[in-house]
Amino acid sequence: MDLKQAIASEAYQLGFSAFGVASADYDPIGHNRHLRWIDKGYQVDMRYLEGGTRKRFDPRITVPSAKSVIVCALNYYHKLENDPSKPYISIYARGENYHAIVMDKLKVLCGKMNELAGSCTYKAYADSSPLSEKSLALKAGLGFVGKNGLLILSSNNGRNPAQGSFYFLGSIITDLELEPDSPINRNCGKCRLCIEACPTSAILGDGTIDASRCIAYHTIQNKGEIPEEISSRMSNMIFGCDLCQSVCPFNKDARESDEPRLISDPLLISPDPESFHNMTEEIFTKRFEKSSIGEKGYRLFIRNLSIAVKNSG
Ligand code: SF4
Ligand code: SF4
Repeated sequence: MDLKQAIASEAYQLGFSAFGVASADYDPIGHNRHLRWIDKGYQVDMRYLEGGTRKRFDPRITVPSAKSVIVCALNYYHKLENDPSKPYISIYARGENYHAIVMDKLKVLCGKMNELAGSCTYKAYADSSPLSEKSLALKAGLGFVGKNGLLILSSNNGRNPAQGSFYFLGSIITDLELEPDSPINRNCGKCRLCIEACPTSAILGDGTIDASRCIAYHTIQNKGEIPEEISSRMSNMIFGCDLCQSVCPFNKDARESDEPRLISDPLLISPDPESFHNMTEEIFTKRFEKSSIGEKGYRLFIRNLSIAVKNSG
């Protein structure tokens, strides 16, 4: 078994569903696509997406000796249930905070990689830095970008059987020279299901999203007031929105994640609105200490909950 295969084998043992390698070269195509998106203002107030844009697409700015970037995907899918009379919380947020879970696994993988290689330089990321993991995953042949703007894992000559978009990404920049995988040649074809399902017309059709119209942005990132035009279409969604993923044919055979830390908190699967309304900030902070919901704070949660209650009336 060569070094790359040995590292992949360790990644699969850690529970990752897909593994690929990209060269650490600058990605001008991804960079230009990102700049065009920023120019149109689709990032709204997410200023962290505007600064250091070259760094996002050039791993050698972060690790000058970098030769390769390992990209791994972790399945977070759990059965999607949505009772319109109850608040809806996106599947990804029903377990522990994914940054910590993916990062913990990557740290172990880095240790194994260092042992296998003798010694190497590495730096791990889990959606936590100015690094475009989607662009790296594309280069590493893990999948393609769907019209809904998400990376859709898709079989690459049977190398990675994982399929669909219910995956978290994590990456490791390293000075190891590993054979890069080839990008896959696949796309959505004529499908438009996500565009038709999006209640706020946020999907632009070219693989990008206008965040100013996206419910996921407003319920998770927007700390200010949500425009009436959007809030009136949020229905029961109080943290994220899975609509453009739930209709995607690539997710129709999605398998349940077996990651124990991603098991859904029973309170979040089909929540009783009253139990949320009666929750004080102190209880909220304790209850959601380890989750993405807790990270975003009590005020945002209560604001979104009030909109869902208004929409249900
Ligand atoms: S997350 Fe929801 S609002 Fe955002 S693009 Fe997808 S369907 Fe539309
Ligand atoms: S729903 Fe259809 S158009 Fe949208 S991402 Fe999935 S395959 Fe592509």
